[in-house]
Amino acid sequence: MSNQLSSCLEATGGAISYALHGNCYLNITNRCTLRCSFCPKFNGTWNVQGSALRLRREPTADEILDSVGDPGQYRQIVFCGLGEPTLRLYTSLEIASRLRARGAHVRFNTDGLANLVYGRDVTPDLEDNVDELSISLNAQNEILYNRYCRPKLAGAYRSLLEFARRATDFVPDVTLTAIDGLPGVDIDACASVAAGIGAKFRRRVLDQVG
Ligand code: SF4
Repeated sequence: MSNQLSSCLEATGGAISYALHGNCYLNITNRCTLRCSFCPKFNGTWNVQGSALRLRREPTADEILDSVGDPGQYRQIVFCGLGEPTLRLYTSLEIASRLRARGAHVRFNTDGLANLVYGRDVTPDLEDNVDELSISLNAQNEILYNRYCRPKLAGAYRSLLEFARRATDFVPDVTLTAIDGLPGVDIDACASVAAGIGAKFRRRVLDQVG
């Protein structure tokens, strides 16, 4: 662990960034729009792949950038911690823009609910700031989605599909994901939903960050 990361840990109480799969993952908030039944934080742990992700306070943009260091040492910078990065959308976009100016490839792992949260279409704001979006679909229909993801806002499933569809106009690579192994979740049906809105699809494995 670098001295830089250690001091950030002291300031925020949890890891701001962690390296995995050759990527740098950013843990910028613990807030969420969902309360996923399979989430580590709702199952007694804030540790993910050896990193303690419970934040005492949210890191500033400069703290996050300091924690990354040289983005050239990573394949991708991924906004993905135990929280939803688009709840800090404009801080995330500022950081993404500064990292991309230094050659980084930026991915947001998101619940796809930013339009619902902000009450408007924010997808144009992603253009030229985000290279890749990975959006949690998690189920082939609204009933299953609500069972597993337990959204705080009504209309979440339809809003995430619309977000994903609109995002394909502004982000070069949009992928929907679903976790294999949740009872009732049909991975092939989830892949069809993704294909229907012009997005890619990736099957995920429970408790594996990616
Ligand atoms: S969106 Fe992610 S961090 Fe938030 S509750 Fe779901 S699994 Fe947990």
